[in-house]
Amino acid sequence: MTDTAAPNSPLDTRPTRVRIAPSPTGDPHVGTAYIGLLNYIYARQRGGQFVLRIEDTDRTRFVASSEQMIFDALKWVGLTWDEGPDVGGPYGPYRQSERTEIYREHVEILLANGTAYRSFETADELEAMRQSQIAAKQPPRYNGAHRHLTPQQIDAFLAEGRPYTVRLKVPTEGSTTFRDELRGDIRFDHNNVDDQVLMKSDGFPTYHLANVVDDHLMHITDVIRAEEWISSTPKHVLLYNAFGWQLPRFWHMPLLRNIDKSKISKRKNPVSLVYYRESGYLPEAMLNFLGLMGGGMAQPTEAEIVSKGLNTKEGDIFSLADMLAKFDFTRISLGGPVFDLVKLKWLNGEYLRKLSPDAFFHALRSTILSDAYIRAIAPLVQARLETLGQFGDMTGFFFADNVTPPESVWLPKKRTPEETLLFAADQLATLETTNWDAMSIESALKALGEAKQWSVKKNFMLLRAILTGSVTSPPLTESLVVFGKSRSLDRLRRFLSTQQEAQKRQANQRK
Ligand code: GLU
Repeated sequence: MTDTAAPNSPLDTRPTRVRIAPSPTGDPHVGTAYIGLLNYIYARQRGGQFVLRIEDTDRTRFVASSEQMIFDALKWVGLTWDEGPDVGGPYGPYRQSERTEIYREHVEILLANGTAYRSFETADELEAMRQSQIAAKQPPRYNGAHRHLTPQQIDAFLAEGRPYTVRLKVPTEGSTTFRDELRGDIRFDHNNVDDQVLMKSDGFPTYHLANVVDDHLMHITDVIRAEEWISSTPKHVLLYNAFGWQLPRFWHMPLLRNIDKSKISKRKNPVSLVYYRESGYLPEAMLNFLGLMGGGMAQPTEAEIVSKGLNTKEGDIFSLADMLAKFDFTRISLGGPVFDLVKLKWLNGEYLRKLSPDAFFHALRSTILSDAYIRAIAPLVQARLETLGQFGDMTGFFFADNVTPPESVWLPKKRTPEETLLFAADQLATLETTNWDAMSIESALKALGEAKQWSVKKNFMLLRAILTGSVTSPPLTESLVVFGKSRSLDRLRRFLSTQQEAQKRQANQRK
């Protein structure tokens, strides 16, 4: 039997070093700030170091502006890191795309010691393998065909110049057990673990290889990440063992959930930190809210509530300094913290009320009434105004949190509400993927209109109604650009869910 049990946790006495390792694939996600905060607290409570590493090896999902947005968003909530691509540090580079040579050298170590192997199948062959497994009702996975090629066969393939991937040789029997600091021992049978690709045929590593090599070379003692990575961890443990390296401790944090307990996703709620910044949430409120997730902060006792005259909700209000002093990782509950926007709004209101009049004024002037925002709006309406006093009439939707498109406006003639809603939903999907500039938005919308045979005019009118609540507005695409991607999408999303709920209600009444 090849059972590997992980002798990690209590023995690791190295100085604490933790990291977050976001991938720059789009808008900065609230989950990155949540995991970032936990890592930050963990490091600071132990006098350790907090590292920011950019995991950008998946070039197909890479978004160039994303890295800077991640830095900005984390700084906005008030987190700082000791080492990272922008600040440097002793174990850099901290961007994986600059470390490809390191991964190549490490793959050679595994090939030489027999814990990894080259697999020369073509994409077509792998697809055929997958299809036949699906047909046979087996879980699709690599069948191990090239695990046992002879040195001569390998040399012949290499001489032909055949491309290959390098795979981890997962034992065929037994299991791997590792300790999760929040859950205890977790065991995976090897027959459920695929021979993971470690290096792709283009010479780029996969997440698994790069992540383990970097965590080791960066002396990471504690891997604190979201629970969705649990199923990757046995592969990581096998890799640590293949290299003969000491394991870090693993802490898998409960995923943030919607009220209905589904995993938060941009289809239901805004998950981009940019949205919260641009919609006028205060960073302190956001950080406080994220600190509530997972339950690491002790709630005040009955005695404290009475002696300090707190109302129960006030126990939910705390600063970063409070978290550093009191956050307790052993209290974390696995029940799936709810990313409850009603609660976040309430918290934000509490923070707004605490601001001095001067600070409140500055909060407005640095967000929703900033010079930059008004400067971007002004040219869209200058030619349409007769007095400056009309500015508000024409631009109100830029400053409002909610607008209501009257039905007569959003429902074009000869369309059913269902058709309109479906179309609006498609618009959401189209706009999600587009680069956020007037040209890209316009061509995405036109393409969608053509594909669905909606006239450009009606299509733009629908979107105008949803965005502005009216039929007259400054130019639509330019307005969308200034309003910002995350707020525009949120407005569309909210329109859809309000309308869908209204339809459900109507259908129920008819029953
Ligand atoms: N690059 C992974 C991510 O995007 C990192 C996961 C981990 O922390 O190991 O979240």
